[in-house]
Amino acid sequence: MKKTLSFLLVLATVFSLGTTALADSGKCSCNMTPVVYVPGFGEPIYKNPGTEEKVSVFPPEEDAITAAVPDIVKAVLFGLAIGNFDAFGTYAMKAADTILGAAACDNEGNPVENTGVEYEDPTVDTHKNTAFVSDDRDDNGYFMFIYDWRLDPIENARLLREYISKVKALTSHDEIVLSAHSQGNTVVMSYLYLYGNSGIEKLVLLSPAYQGLSLIGSLFAQEVSVIGKGDALAEYLNGVMGYENPTSRLIAAAIKEINKIGTVDGILHYLQRLLDDQLDRVFAECLTDIMGTLPGVWAFVPDEYYEAAKAKVFKGSDEYSVLIEKADYYHYNVQTETASILVNAKKSGTDIVICAGYNISSIPVTKAETAHSDFLIDTGYMSLGAVCAPFGKTLGEKYAQQKTACGHNHVSADGIADASTCLFPEYTWFFKNNGHASFGSGYCEFIEWAIRHKGQPTVHTNKKYPQFMEVSAEELVPVREPSAEKPESNCEIIISSLITLIKESVDK
Ligand SMILES: [Zn+2]
Ligand SMILES: [Zn+2]
Repeated sequence: MKKTLSFLLVLATVFSLGTTALADSGKCSCNMTPVVYVPGFGEPIYKNPGTEEKVSVFPPEEDAITAAVPDIVKAVLFGLAIGNFDAFGTYAMKAADTILGAAACDNEGNPVENTGVEYEDPTVDTHKNTAFVSDDRDDNGYFMFIYDWRLDPIENARLLREYISKVKALTSHDEIVLSAHSQGNTVVMSYLYLYGNSGIEKLVLLSPAYQGLSLIGSLFAQEVSVIGKGDALAEYLNGVMGYENPTSRLIAAAIKEINKIGTVDGILHYLQRLLDDQLDRVFAECLTDIMGTLPGVWAFVPDEYYEAAKAKVFKGSDEYSVLIEKADYYHYNVQTETASILVNAKKSGTDIVICAGYNISSIPVTKAETAHSDFLIDTGYMSLGAVCAPFGKTLGEKYAQQKTACGHNHVSADGIADASTCLFPEYTWFFKNNGHASFGSGYCEFIEWAIRHKGQPTVHTNKKYPQFMEVSAEELVPVREPSAEKPESNCEIIISSLITLIKESVDK
């Protein structure tokens, strides 16, 4: 969270007012292309936004979460402890409705009851015009586009277009750099589809959701499965809590060890029976009425799940035909056309930078559970085609890079990923162990470098920034070959973590 904030602070820093450096043409000659940044999912949604009576509906105000707690407790109690699967379903649905219900859209995918975000116009404060490119990052002009993440990305792209026009007028620049994080990429791709790339100098695409994510695909297609995923669960917990954290190492190693005797899988089997029994019902009532009404969330369903998800969620009902039309329009014109949209943009002069995290297990409830991710989005989707070894393994010593025409090596030194199969192997960077919303200072500096580099930066341009980098104490370092040391056994990890934890508590 802190890291996200630091990046947002960099973006949102209010720059001191400067007079516009206007050339004779009436255009600014400051040489600093303004950056329009389209953030990811999660802008607060209010009822009565922009008024005194505004109430947060997403994230829900504490009251709503507190109100849901008794139902969550009952769901867990009835489902897991007593084995009353029906009661589990009932209380799980009530809790979900209390937490998320107020953010739902109507059957056509439009907001209800005057809910929405607080839109912001770009202001002159956010751009300081200077003829000198300063080393001081605060001199750069950044504008953050606020949007309602529930809406159709196509609709948000129309608003983005208005916003970009305002930025251009305000700064007296004809060109902008367009950068997006996560869901913001569904809006940027829609923008490119609708309006083309004219006036866009560069696209800087961070952890992009333009191909969706298998987690949402699996949920919507109702292919959630937890059977046999004890080890994946351990890896995931380890990743979420941090590999260097002794508690998480201890828990993960313990889960793996217990899993060897089948206990974890036994619990997962039980959980799966409960899910099989109740998922249809919970999905029918929660997913269709809440998540399923949000076109912005439909854009997260990857192509390989899309038709199955529609069939499962809407069950052929006419009631949702307008919503389905919107979702289809985005899916079949933008999501499945991402590659051609980007290739065309590049051909007609827009430079491209793509950043993807890897070496973090995806959430182990999907069929893609061995996939690499940044916690949330699959590395293969974000990078537009990288081949990754199954999580925790390498591609193997005999592995040969799949595409060799360019003459470079595009396989990571740790043997985990092959970037030669990406749509843009020369412009796609990988950040090992970097979480979806982690913006450490090293990563921010890289983004800044990529934005300000004149022309197309490539993975060969700057020795400091090769194709595969690792985040180490906020800084970026090139990914190295794994050391030859033999990996610790679970028992060794458990013992060493316990010793560390005991030492820590004694120190306190
Ligand atoms: Zn300027
Ligand atoms: Zn190459």
